[in-house]
Amino acid sequence: MKKILISVIIICLFSLCMLSLVSCGKEHQHAWDNGTVTAEATCTDPGVKTFSCTECSETKTESIPASGFVLGLSG
Ligand SMILES: [Zn+2]
Repeated sequence: MKKILISVIIICLFSLCMLSLVSCGKEHQHAWDNGTVTAEATCTDPGVKTFSCTECSETKTESIPASGFVLGLSG
């Protein structure tokens, strides 16, 4: 009877291990490309640069600061 209990515990632990391995396996160090400017930054509005991972289809965006960040100019 004890052997069965031990086997059940081992199977449970094993399943938990496998589950955590699977969820961990999805995470990997993304290899971001150089990025593509998807929205050009203007003098006043920030732009958007999109990076995509070369190993998976994951994408991330980064804002490009507005180029003409000079205050006090008329116009
Ligand atoms: Zn990736």
